[in-house]
Amino acid sequence: MRAVCIFLGHCLIASWCVATNPPNIFLITIDTLRADHVHCYGYNQIQTPALDDLAKGGIRFAQAFTPSPLTNSSHTSILTGLLPSTHGVTDFGIPLDDSHATLAELLKAKGYHTAAFIGAIILDSKTLAPGLDRGFDFYDNFPVNVQTKAHWDRLERRGEVVVKHAEAWLTAHPVGPRFVWVHLYDPHDPYEPPAPYSQTYKDRLYDGEIAYADSALATFITYLKTHGWYDNSLVIVVGDHGEGLGEHNEDTHGIFLYDSTIHVPLILKLPAGKNAGKVIDAQVGTLDIMSTALEFADIHKPEAVQGMSLVPVFEKPQKINRPEVGETDYPLRFGWAPLRSVRAEGNKFIEAPRPELYDLQSDSTEQKNLYEPTSELVATSRKLLADIFPQAQANQPPGPLPDPKDKIEEQNLLHRALIATQDNRFTDAHRALEQVLQLNPKSSLALRQLGEVELQTKDYSSAASHLKQGREISPDDPAIAFLLGQTLQKMNDLEGARTVLEECLKTNPNEPTARLLLGSVYLELKNPTAAADQFEAVLLVQPANVEGQLGLAKAQIAQSNFAEAARGLGDLSKSERDNAAVFDLLAQAYRGLGKGPEAQRAEARAKLLRGK
Ligand SMILES: [Zn+2]
Repeated sequence: MRAVCIFLGHCLIASWCVATNPPNIFLITIDTLRADHVHCYGYNQIQTPALDDLAKGGIRFAQAFTPSPLTNSSHTSILTGLLPSTHGVTDFGIPLDDSHATLAELLKAKGYHTAAFIGAIILDSKTLAPGLDRGFDFYDNFPVNVQTKAHWDRLERRGEVVVKHAEAWLTAHPVGPRFVWVHLYDPHDPYEPPAPYSQTYKDRLYDGEIAYADSALATFITYLKTHGWYDNSLVIVVGDHGEGLGEHNEDTHGIFLYDSTIHVPLILKLPAGKNAGKVIDAQVGTLDIMSTALEFADIHKPEAVQGMSLVPVFEKPQKINRPEVGETDYPLRFGWAPLRSVRAEGNKFIEAPRPELYDLQSDSTEQKNLYEPTSELVATSRKLLADIFPQAQANQPPGPLPDPKDKIEEQNLLHRALIATQDNRFTDAHRALEQVLQLNPKSSLALRQLGEVELQTKDYSSAASHLKQGREISPDDPAIAFLLGQTLQKMNDLEGARTVLEECLKTNPNEPTARLLLGSVYLELKNPTAAADQFEAVLLVQPANVEGQLGLAKAQIAQSNFAEAARGLGDLSKSERDNAAVFDLLAQAYRGLGKGPEAQRAEARAKLLRGK
């Protein structure tokens, strides 16, 4: 009897529960998708037929909000049902802690086959999104050594490529139930839609990228329908965040918490097309996706999950007015204050050094700041934020930080410079960074990026001068020290490079790249003993590090320790069969040992590999 009660208590709609098999679940996240740039959300200047069709056959949430305007944080919230400050992934590269259950993990435990197909390296679990692959049988990371300067396939995949990978996996895994996450990155900047979208939308390239992503979605939906996997599946389509497009002076996203970047489309297509065509106006969050999907799979949601199931929201439409909170720590990366926001009862409050309050009924674009320190609404909002983010005060670094509102132009320029650098448009990057320095001569980020650009364009003396300035402002930034070390090595100032790298490693002993560079500087300084120490220190932490093993072999050869070098290189040549440098060094070691024929064989192998 008890089991039955739990059963009914858990599932609001018994008809799903009695269904013999849990449904396939397809989660499609479209990056950087503003709700008000989608046709079925009322934007008439774009064609998004796939999204429109899904809305017709499903439930469209007109008021859905992400708790974070940053790709990694917001995706982690979708996949855990937790706020960024709870799951901890508040910037790129921060690992998702094992203690937080993921949707994929829970579905897998229930017998689901699980796979994820990502469109950008920022969600790669080997580098910038560690832990996000937890629970996935297959996670489509980017290849490690891609020899291309173009950003396609190295940093980003077109929507059609992502969809093709997902289809191949589904074809190879035809037995359900399956949970597949497809990430379409295209609308993220730079805006470069392929033809014909580049032409149709030539004056609105962001819209062109959305229209293109919609076509990739159409391809995927058609594939599902063709295989008979559409009707009985749960399909969830959601934007991870929006895009500033210059509103509030924000070009892209991540810094602010205005609706331009936190209001996203959310569409659910239910098994058997239930509730088709429904539009829900109640305010909901992308945080609620996890609990909703778990309910369809008949899995109890973990107690820690902060989002709620959307089933009651669309099954028994009632006056639900749940506050939606937003948070961003991204400004901290630039030395500016983090922001927190709450959207409730038609108002939005943003906690900042200069706080903001907007009446969204009369001012939907958040232009007229009504903040008064004594306002009752402000007090209620602050109480709400304090309940949800009890750690917020404790997490803030001491001292007053600048308000991001006063700094946004710097961030726009730094971002433009970053995109230009990735595209090898160094003159554009240089110009943008000089502009940042005009706004803020003490921007160590601009000095660092400028030094990096000048290092790449071989303007070593300018690079050294900017990096030295940056180092005075941020003496503990290992990236500046590393770049300066590289620059000085190029300028043949080996003693200078050694000093900078030694200092850097004193404060950041776990920087293997700096240590490898220091090892190579010591080799050039004809000090193989000191070089060997550095390479061995790297290998102690990362025994498989190839550069470390090669460096150590060079140091051993320089010390005439040919036997040790040959032994290490012999082992390395088994895993690095196509690495010419390994065989070059192996030849040197064999020569040192007087093993002529072996040396010749290694030389021949190196030559063959180089000829490839
Ligand atoms: Zn994103």
